[in-house]
Amino acid sequence: MLIVMKQDASHEQIAAVVKVIEALGYEARPMGGRSRTAVGIVGNDGAVDPGRFVGMAGVREAVPVSQPYKQVSREWKDDRTVVELPGGARIGDGSVTVIAGPCAVESREQILEIAQILRDMGASALRGGAYKPRTSPYAFQGLGEEGLEFLAEAREATGLPIVTEALEPGLVELVADYADVLQVGARNMQNYPLLRAVGRSKKPVLLKRGMSATIQELLLAAEYVLAEGNPNVILCERGVRGFDSASRNILDLTAIPAVKSRTHLPIMADPSHGTGLRTMVVPMSLAAIAAGADGLIVEVHQDPPSARSDGMQSLFPVQFRELMERAGTIASAEGRSLTPAPETSARI
Ligand code: PEP
Ligand code: MN
Repeated sequence: MLIVMKQDASHEQIAAVVKVIEALGYEARPMGGRSRTAVGIVGNDGAVDPGRFVGMAGVREAVPVSQPYKQVSREWKDDRTVVELPGGARIGDGSVTVIAGPCAVESREQILEIAQILRDMGASALRGGAYKPRTSPYAFQGLGEEGLEFLAEAREATGLPIVTEALEPGLVELVADYADVLQVGARNMQNYPLLRAVGRSKKPVLLKRGMSATIQELLLAAEYVLAEGNPNVILCERGVRGFDSASRNILDLTAIPAVKSRTHLPIMADPSHGTGLRTMVVPMSLAAIAAGADGLIVEVHQDPPSARSDGMQSLFPVQFRELMERAGTIASAEGRSLTPAPETSARI
């Protein structure tokens, strides 16, 4: 339930509503918005009696939240969430934010070189895994903390904020010491202890859709993060399992409008994992922007055939340049623009 206050409600009237909620044994979440002030109720298992609030001074209405996810729903918050990154990118403000980088950090030289290339081509943030969730236990698992150090060095050199995966709850604090955005991978979308751990962090979270997760399951996963007090969640469609081996996954573009109609959180698309083949990455990126995605997360490697993971879906830098040009064209056809690259001086 959400208690929507009148425009001119006083602090005392809001405090009185909070008091009633707490007296019922629930938690109150007062929220100031652009268009309204509301007090959300969390911690209740069943329905709350609206009669407890209707008629209180300053209360306009008591709105039951019809979805199982609450804080994530548009009923809960009607302003869109904008997630700000160091350097100024604002994900969800209407612009198209492009995060790019290799699947994995492979060496200091590799990440420093590709970061500079991507920065010069207009990327807004650098991705790269230091801890990799691999299907085979014998495959390259990432450089671990050393990889995080190299990412931090790449940020110093380029000003690009860092997006990198936190693979397990015990690693969240360490990864958050280096990262600007904590990625939760598709395989971990329903790892509830991990969702709670990133929810306790102050860093924004990029939450990828599980490869066989419904939209409702994705939104409930995001609810775990918000329920722990972290409102800065960016959702990410990264493809679901299909039946045709022509692509690794099916990038589900219906997820973009479906998510946008249900939540105030931004949603990006990952056409790299969503297709698995570099020839499909540019067309599907353009389609995702046209479908309303708040941005893209794309794998790029200076030499994809030698990449230690996901080389087949990694763009060559020249293809990334083409992607940025064409993405700008599609965005402007929609009255949008690409998020500008950060000032190099943001970090140095
Ligand atoms: C990745 O981003 O490299 C990755 C492992 O993605 P996903 O969790 O979507 O498979
Ligand atoms: Mn990858």
